Amino acid sequence: MYKKLIAFSIAAVMMVACTTVPITGRRQLSLVSDAQMMQMSYDAYDQFLKENKLSRDAQATAMVKRTGQRIQRAVEQYMAANGMSDQLQGFQWEHNLIEDDQVNAWAMAGGKTVTYTGILPVAQNETGLAVVMGHEIAHAIAKHSNERMSQQLAQQFGGQTLSALAGSQPGVAQQLIMTAYSAGSTLGILKYGRNQESEADRLGLIFMAMAGYNPQEAIPFWERMEAKSGGQAPPEFLSTHPSAGTRRANLQSYMPEAMKYYKK
Ligand SMILES: [Zn+2]
Repeated sequence: MYKKLIAFSIAAVMMVACTTVPITGRRQLSLVSDAQMMQMSYDAYDQFLKENKLSRDAQATAMVKRTGQRIQRAVEQYMAANGMSDQLQGFQWEHNLIEDDQVNAWAMAGGKTVTYTGILPVAQNETGLAVVMGHEIAHAIAKHSNERMSQQLAQQFGGQTLSALAGSQPGVAQQLIMTAYSAGSTLGILKYGRNQESEADRLGLIFMAMAGYNPQEAIPFWERMEAKSGGQAPPEFLSTHPSAGTRRANLQSYMPEAMKYYKK
């Protein structure tokens, strides 16, 4: 009886606390408000920048900022043209290059991205970088970190919203936030699920295409990433992403859709 009641209330919460990912139309759980998510993200991002070194390479830094802004503007235009600008409310876009040999990049809620200098040789050029940044920006647009935290709330706290949990058990809520956005850690972001990675690949191709970068370059880029991992333990950036074969097949299946958005 109680179990049924609990299951019912979780279902009820899930019905009202859903959002839809742009373009893919996938419904996702959302138990954290965008404003809360972004505040956590901005705090963690500032902390990360304090504890890491910005690249002194002016040319590479300019390329990262230019690529991020081109993709960002293309997404903004698309969202405006399709009546979805409200989904970008509160975004404080920022793109930084940090001096670090890791083959890595990530984005946080609200459009804060970090690219590591270690990924630049793999990117080779601006289009290769657009593959990376398109993918990371897609995680932010699809609000994957909110979804990840919401899934944790559903699994561990009976589907309470973050606000409700913070009201009843502030210490527990704080702990959840800390582990989700471990400020100052080298990772700094939640690990995404496999379906989120595939979704970011699909949207990433579309976003880079909208910004005028040829999405077909994503296939050789991911091959270079695979070669870089050399069959050993893959670099951190690859470890949470689909295997090379699966990814290649997925990318090829997403390509016709992405090419529709590509204007040279
Ligand atoms: Zn990813």
